[in-house]
Amino acid sequence: TSPTQVTLLGATGSIGQSTLAVIAAHPEQYALFAVTAHSNVTALATICVQFQPQFAVMVDPTAAQQLTQQLRTQGCRTEVLSGTEALSAVSSAAETDIVMAAIVGAAGLLPTLAAVQAGKRVLLANKEALVMSGQLFIDAVRESGAVLLPVDSEHNAIFQALPQAAQVASHSMQYADFGIEKILLTGSGGPFRELPLNELAAQSPAAACRHPNWEMGQKISVDSATMLNKGLEYIEARWLFNCAPGQLDVIVHPQSVVHSMVQYTDGSVIAQLGQPDMRTPIAYALAYPERINSGVPALDFTTMGALTFSAPDPQRYPCLQLAIDACWSGQAATTTLNAANEMAVAAFLHGQITFGDIAVVCAAVLEQAELSELTTIEAILACDEAARRSAALWIQRRGH
Ligand code: NDP
Ligand code: MG
Repeated sequence: TSPTQVTLLGATGSIGQSTLAVIAAHPEQYALFAVTAHSNVTALATICVQFQPQFAVMVDPTAAQQLTQQLRTQGCRTEVLSGTEALSAVSSAAETDIVMAAIVGAAGLLPTLAAVQAGKRVLLANKEALVMSGQLFIDAVRESGAVLLPVDSEHNAIFQALPQAAQVASHSMQYADFGIEKILLTGSGGPFRELPLNELAAQSPAAACRHPNWEMGQKISVDSATMLNKGLEYIEARWLFNCAPGQLDVIVHPQSVVHSMVQYTDGSVIAQLGQPDMRTPIAYALAYPERINSGVPALDFTTMGALTFSAPDPQRYPCLQLAIDACWSGQAATTTLNAANEMAVAAFLHGQITFGDIAVVCAAVLEQAELSELTTIEAILACDEAARRSAALWIQRRGH
């Protein structure tokens, strides 16, 4: 049989690179149909030369021209496309079986949704896409018959801890049918978990990006430091696993060995454990329901030491509570929070606002937002836009 054709959105990123490592180890099973990036010419050229995909999308037109030239001089026959529409074209193309959604932020929404609407097997790393569009996204999965598999390590762990009969339709499962009581979402607490509270606000971008356990892109690293990442994951879990309020708890677990858990009515708790290495959930989602070698070494329990668990401190992580509240107050709140956070994180990384300002900007934008119901993609994009404008004003006000 011929290899399964994969479209890799965000190929040059952290998840993109881990996905390429797994695919490279299984050339008979997987081939790349298309790869995409925003503007990193050198990295995408290297990927094209190694994997020879049919298409490479470079969103930035100047970068696309440079890539075309580089590939020509290296004799690589990959066809280069440009622009955001090309992302959706390759993610919904008839030739592709699997779409790995690994673009960071709101930019991933439309191509991920296009893959869902085309009924693909969608491997979701881009949590922001689901946070922004929630019900609309899940309805699209149901209508098209797409198979949605979580790549985010926590959600992948929860998926693995569910009964098989609950797995693929887990976004509409009834907990009572499976004896499920609640989902326990674990998070490390990030690099500032033990910092004195009065030193928190002034932390630098470099310090915020120095995650104790995981190597990730900059945006998600900052989100881990504020724990808004866990907040986005809380919202992501709500949609992926059809949670009601009270069926989802966040637990701080600094060692990042237990990637999340499902608690059952008989008192059993089922957890998935593993190294903090995204190749494990990526390999699981690629091969599901089978298992393939991910290249990740097994855990060594003889040298591991203690695993500890505690409740998140609301004073240290104000963004987490913002997200939990937004989750249960409607789509506009989560779309708004996601947009405000993307703006605030970018401003923090550019040295325009402090680490402490991220929570201030998010709270202020949410406070002022008009929270009407959002049921169309146009309404979602308009809400995202409005939140970005509002965040820009707050960033200016807080800025130095
Ligand atoms: P990176 O920043 O490392 O990579 C982002 C990728 O998206 C790059 O390929 C980048 O291209 C591309 N990209 C950025 N902006 C745009 C845009 N406007 N249009 C099109 N493409 C764009 O991010 P990560 O790999 O860390 O994260 C990707 C997603 O996966 C995020 O949603 C994150 O939350 C999620 N995730 C990541 C984990 C991790 O371990 N890294 C773990 C769990 C979830 P270019 O290189 O050209 O800029
Ligand atoms: Mg995660």
